[in-house]
Amino acid sequence: MAQLAAPAPPRPSRAAPVDDPFAALNPQQRAAVMHGDEPLLVLAGAGSGKTLTLAARVARLVLDGADPNRLLLLTFSRRAAQEMARRAGRMLHRALGLRATQPPPQLPWAGTFHAIGARLLREYAGRIGLAEDFTILDRGDAEDLMALVRQAQGWAAARTRFPLKATCLAIYSRTLNRQLPLAQVLQEDFPWCAAWHDELKAMFRAYAAEKQAQHLLDYDDLLLGWHQMLADDGLAMQLGDRFGPVLVDEYQDTNRLQAAILRRLKPDGRGLTVVGDDAQSIYAFRAAEVCNILGFGQQFGDAARTVLLERNYRSTQPILDASNAVIALAEQRHAKTLWTDRRGGSRPRLVTVADELDQARWVADSVLEQREQGLALTQQAVLFRTGHHSAALELELARRDIPFVKFGGLKFLEAAHVKDLLAVLRWAQNPRGALAGYRVALLVPGIGPAAARRLIDAMAAAPDPAAALRAWVPPPAAASDWAALVGLLDVLQSDASPWPAELEAVRAWYQPHLQRLHADDAAVRSLDLEQLQRLAAAQGSRERFLTELTLDPPEATSDEAGPPHPDEDYLTLSTIHAAKGQEWNAVTILNVIDGCLPADLATGSAAAVAEERRLLYVAMTRAKQQLQLMVPLRFHVGQQHRLGDRHLYGGMSRFVTPEVAALFDRVAPAAPAADRHDPPLPPRAAQPLQLGALWD
Ligand code: ATP
Ligand code: MG
Repeated sequence: MAQLAAPAPPRPSRAAPVDDPFAALNPQQRAAVMHGDEPLLVLAGAGSGKTLTLAARVARLVLDGADPNRLLLLTFSRRAAQEMARRAGRMLHRALGLRATQPPPQLPWAGTFHAIGARLLREYAGRIGLAEDFTILDRGDAEDLMALVRQAQGWAAARTRFPLKATCLAIYSRTLNRQLPLAQVLQEDFPWCAAWHDELKAMFRAYAAEKQAQHLLDYDDLLLGWHQMLADDGLAMQLGDRFGPVLVDEYQDTNRLQAAILRRLKPDGRGLTVVGDDAQSIYAFRAAEVCNILGFGQQFGDAARTVLLERNYRSTQPILDASNAVIALAEQRHAKTLWTDRRGGSRPRLVTVADELDQARWVADSVLEQREQGLALTQQAVLFRTGHHSAALELELARRDIPFVKFGGLKFLEAAHVKDLLAVLRWAQNPRGALAGYRVALLVPGIGPAAARRLIDAMAAAPDPAAALRAWVPPPAAASDWAALVGLLDVLQSDASPWPAELEAVRAWYQPHLQRLHADDAAVRSLDLEQLQRLAAAQGSRERFLTELTLDPPEATSDEAGPPHPDEDYLTLSTIHAAKGQEWNAVTILNVIDGCLPADLATGSAAAVAEERRLLYVAMTRAKQQLQLMVPLRFHVGQQHRLGDRHLYGGMSRFVTPEVAALFDRVAPAAPAADRHDPPLPPRAAQPLQLGALWD
């Protein structure tokens, strides 16, 4: 209802009317911008100006009298939402002819589905029987609550095969977002948990009751609550009226629940604009349904209009040719081929390097070289399939003082399993290191915080901590696992254990704990540990390895953090998922080899492989002028360590077929991999260093 809407802002004063703020748009873009009220789909390839067109449409609507407070702009990820709001604001600023000193008009209802859902729920809580003081759980908190419920129901201890908390939350979330019965979701997405249907259902009921009692909402509740709110006809009408036009970017990544929300907001589709690219749908694992975008036209019948954009403004033709060739081999897609009139430009490069460490050096060299040629670091990005793929590069960049920001994925050295492994090494290195010791002790089943504390205190008080460790009597339940740990530490402390083989012993010891603690994604986490092992192999000794990591930790930051300083020049490292919607002058993609892209773990089904292909397409189409695909010839393949040190030779990604490769310049640095093993350390001094000697 009108009374719910915030009052319209005063019209800003204008510097000078702008003749045609949309002069730069091509005819298709303009058609989309000028299109009336009927449902509109802009379906177009990467870099064709979809986001720009959406922003221009916002400006046009406001110029025609729409109230910016009543425009609802939605998208999937936070970064994409910020980009969308920024561009729309800038476009409006120009279209309204505002002076440079005047701020762009605000679009208060631009954001992610989840953020907008949260605001609406807060505002309407009283009307829908929701506690007004509700707080929102992040995924970690939600998992912990799920674990508490699981424990309360007695399944945590009694039935070890019952899905872990993270899996439970994933099943719960998928069921809500796909809007399907639990049994079907279990069957299709989590068949190994199907036997637990009744227990899971009871647990989800208890989880929901717990949230209700504690006034908590998880991320999914933000969508679910919004959807339920719209089930009330009166409220649905109110909200439908409250928001005039509704515009959605990256529509290919919406799930059923999001599509249902849009349908309830705009039942006949009037005022609804969605833009997207089916070839860039990369969020199936979060229940995205590409049929939302492909079926948009049918959903609203004849009234719906579809605009296709095929001209690309981002990339040079050689980059487009290569990207088109990759996606042309996809089976299911809405066929579209991009073109540009940006002739010239160098062909993309397919760079073969010996291994990952060579790759890291080569990329660091190339980044610096580009900067020498005038390309700021902020104009360059390095993209990869998963967070741990950049570990070697992060170390190399830190070593060379090249500032960078990492988006998506966890900082390598902060991941729990990497910290666990390093803690064992640190403790072996320094048995008085209480932090490492405490962490390691807690890994042993049967040792809780109190027992771990007793151990650490005993070691601290003893003249010989290693002896105190051996003499310590653990709680009876921990006896055998404790003995295994003590055995490992003995091995690590004996001079006989060579480096880096001793890391293998630590991994062998850790493996069952990894399985137990992270059963759901142990395979993925193992890949990180293999990565750690490769990094270790480049150092001459345990001391050197730990020192290197401690003095030069990768300065990566998560998606939560912004750039180091607003004015600073920094390179962007990003997972491909976190890079969507963005563009850089120079883009390098790491590990374009089978096992990484497509990821090993995603080759189980044709649909999963198809999504990996779209990921490569998304990555390649981020580049404006220069694109490099890296192909390390020698790559340690995950999950194969029992078969020995298996490497892949020439394992080029299956997406780079010979026809695709023909569109690249091949680069193979001639220099052989340098010997990275440090010279042997001099023999240990007879007298230990006395730190206090100076003051004697
Ligand atoms: P993606 O699929 O990656 O999200 P997109 O289709 O949203 O891409 P945009 O990011 O809107 O594409 O546009 C890509 C680039 O092309 C931007 O730098 C944008 O400013 C520019 N661009 C788009 N349309 C035009 C135009 N008509 N004239 C000049 N530049 C344009
Ligand atoms: Mg876009």
